[in-house]
Amino acid sequence: AEPNADLAEMIRTIPDHPKPGIMFRDISTLMLDGGSFAATIDRLAEALEGDAPDLIAGTEARGFVFASALAYRLGCGVLMLRKAGKLPGPSVRIEYALEYGTDMLEMHDDACGPGANIVLVDDLIATGGTALAAVELLRGRGAHVSQALFVIDLPELGGAQKLRDAGVEPHALVE
Ligand code: IMP
Repeated sequence: AEPNADLAEMIRTIPDHPKPGIMFRDISTLMLDGGSFAATIDRLAEALEGDAPDLIAGTEARGFVFASALAYRLGCGVLMLRKAGKLPGPSVRIEYALEYGTDMLEMHDDACGPGANIVLVDDLIATGGTALAAVELLRGRGAHVSQALFVIDLPELGGAQKLRDAGVEPHALVE
């Protein structure tokens, strides 16, 4: 059997969302099942092989769900990487390209000290644009980012390879 086949079967595919031709991988079904959610967090934590970071950085919004549970399990804090205009304090931002247009991630400029070891978490990596922007934003504040965790990788879109090329080891439970 595929690794994590039990989790893969809890992920639903919704055709033509958010636009025609896209097969959207919907992890809300996995999150609704307590046993599957707990197993997901345990296996993401195990991918770090006991290497607890100072902080887990999660990407808004689904990344927050996994980041907070993981941080609790590992005994570290949570750093929120937010969409534009949500943070109350002085912030730094990075704009990154999407297929059509651009998107933005922001973090508080004092959220991490220089030299902080940070693991990035999101639900899914596709082209890697979001994850690479997150890494650049965190590194711009002096953080060390050498590992990233995802529930799902879509390997044909090349994002995981781009992360490796940037010196970040990606770990994903399901392809
Ligand atoms: P990327 O920037 O192309 O790697 O896309 C990854 C980002 O878009 C992540 O923040 C995901 O949450 C989101 N995303 C892209 N495709 C999907 C999908 O099929 N299901 C869930 N999230 C997706």
